[in-house]
Amino acid sequence: MSAEAANPGASSRRRARPRLDLRRLGRAALLGPAARGRVPDAIGHVAEAHRAHHPDADLAILHRAYVLAESSHRGQFRKSGEPYITHPLAVTLILAELGAETTTLTASLLHDTVEDTDVTLVQVREEFGEEVCYLVDGVTKLEKVDYGAAAEPETFRKMLVATGNDVRVMSIKLADRLHNMRTLGVMRPEKQERIAKVTRDVLIPLAERLGVQALKTELEDLVFAILHPEEYARTRALIAENADAVDALAAVAGKVRAVLRDAGIQAEVLLRPRHFVSVHRVRLKRGDLSGTDFGRLLVLVGEDADCYAALGELHTCFTPLISEFKDFIAAPKFNLYQSLHTAVASTDGAVAEVLIRTHQMHRVAEAGVVALGNPYTADTAEGAGLPGAAEPSAGAEGERADPTRPGWLSRLLDWQESAPDTDTFWTSLRADLAEDREITVFRADGGTLGLPAGASCVDAAYAQYGEAAHTCVGARVNGRLAALATRLSDGDTVEPLLAQDAASGPSPDWLQHTRTPAARIAITGWLAEHPEAARPQAAAPRAAAAGPSAASGGRRRAGANAVAEAPGLPGATVRLAGCCTPVPPDAVTGFPVRGGAVTVHRGECPGVSRMRAMGRRPVEVRWGRAAECRVTLVAEAFGRPRLLADLTEAIATAGAAVVSATVEPPSEQRVRHTYTLQLQDAAGLPPLMRAMRDVAGVYDVSRARHPAAH
Ligand code: MN
Repeated sequence: MSAEAANPGASSRRRARPRLDLRRLGRAALLGPAARGRVPDAIGHVAEAHRAHHPDADLAILHRAYVLAESSHRGQFRKSGEPYITHPLAVTLILAELGAETTTLTASLLHDTVEDTDVTLVQVREEFGEEVCYLVDGVTKLEKVDYGAAAEPETFRKMLVATGNDVRVMSIKLADRLHNMRTLGVMRPEKQERIAKVTRDVLIPLAERLGVQALKTELEDLVFAILHPEEYARTRALIAENADAVDALAAVAGKVRAVLRDAGIQAEVLLRPRHFVSVHRVRLKRGDLSGTDFGRLLVLVGEDADCYAALGELHTCFTPLISEFKDFIAAPKFNLYQSLHTAVASTDGAVAEVLIRTHQMHRVAEAGVVALGNPYTADTAEGAGLPGAAEPSAGAEGERADPTRPGWLSRLLDWQESAPDTDTFWTSLRADLAEDREITVFRADGGTLGLPAGASCVDAAYAQYGEAAHTCVGARVNGRLAALATRLSDGDTVEPLLAQDAASGPSPDWLQHTRTPAARIAITGWLAEHPEAARPQAAAPRAAAAGPSAASGGRRRAGANAVAEAPGLPGATVRLAGCCTPVPPDAVTGFPVRGGAVTVHRGECPGVSRMRAMGRRPVEVRWGRAAECRVTLVAEAFGRPRLLADLTEAIATAGAAVVSATVEPPSEQRVRHTYTLQLQDAAGLPPLMRAMRDVAGVYDVSRARHPAAH
């Protein structure tokens, strides 16, 4: 491998867009030998990178720190043979390019002086002040002579405690580790492997949680090269073989640019190659990679609102893969990250993943807490435009209320206090960091729920409704019906569906799908009070499904009072046929089916004549009192921007809820939308259809034979 390439001289040339440098440099460091041997006017490069982000920064203190670091490290050399000062300089340059503020850079220049030279903390405090002293102390290792084998774990404990008071400690540690990983090639293989494993188990999860994407991705690639050299070589070869794959993505980028330009949206559309580990993951997931899989498109816009405008245009002019859509702007991830994610298919079928964010969100996505500025100066944090910096956002579950002291860090610092011995601390730390992070999901009302990764719709239902979730019969996830067992992902929108009749209750198998104590305790308690329900199959279907069944693990939407009554068969379970979704006052015919239930079809449904032809005897059915119903409508329209938004608005205004929707790709300017809708009252159907027909561009709305695909 060639992970030892970067030196400060190579990594500090002036570039137009400092924010993308690090990724490119990381890639360059992996792909080939960089220029070596020149000890440059390095503090000049640091100053230049710093000025690019902070034009008014006072550089005098940086010069003083450099003079002290250079003179005290003089005569020391890295294992590579380079003067030692190249290391603190490289670390400081990494931080400067990410936009770190002056105090961090000062401490970064001095970060190894107390550990490795005659400089003392007292001297650092006297010459550079309390904050710089605190940061240098925070990253200074505990002595092997004092701690023996416990030195490394206890150093991490000390660093994390210091990070709890000043998150800039960890910024410096991460940049320090990145430069050491880049230059690890000179170490013995066993040592490389040991350091790579600690990087994988501790530093990379910390980089992820602190939102420092640029450092995290490069660290991942460096670790990958050391711990999985064969897979790494294979991935590297794959990327090299597909060097022109970027053309496929560039073609989509060109179309995207044109679409946004026509819509009058100011945007930069960039190609963003995936890092090695990302390519490797995609290959494992999809097998063969197509051209557009080697990168993603990054759309950078000015304002938050432009993100949604750009998204709307892309979803109108391309075919979106709705399942890939994630809104991390309305509910940012716990680690400060904000973006819209989507995937679109262009006319030739190429699918491109697209990230949409503002320039400011981009900076935060790359640099995370490093971009916080001085987190203890309120106006700096606000000036950085960080989510949650100015005011804690509602429903953030505490994770982002204070970006300098995230919830996971507080919890970590709590439990470490009760882990006095080193082994317990070290094992628990790696387990804690390895644990899948928390996810944030949207509620239908726009609020958010914080859940453990792996949580299901059952967990979400109890988190939102407490014991009222006992009557849950299904859920909508991202607008589509989903089984209660469905595991939720970060950014999903989940809407638990509760039955109207309070009699229904949880099924024992829900316990297999819970990750939260709250859900588990509530379900266990209910089952204990209802022993008859604890038996498998005890919850016989007493509610008929209204319309197409929710693919919900056998539990069906209760809509019994919308349902026809069968005469001759009192009390029979009645089910509305999914093929024709009858709605009052349709003429209906019923057929008894196995198990004593009756299925109800519209009179004109082809299913009726087919059943008659097979000799099945119909039974007379009639509508009970009109109530909730489900219906599938097809809207034919001429394609235009905002059509989907206007139609869904008309539907919502008419009081109907969208259960599922299918949008077919436009053909000759015409588009067909199929909606399965839930109405409070069947009597609302004619006005709903009229309202949909009134939407500009719509020329027909009709009842469908088939429900919209889920
Ligand atoms: Mn160091």
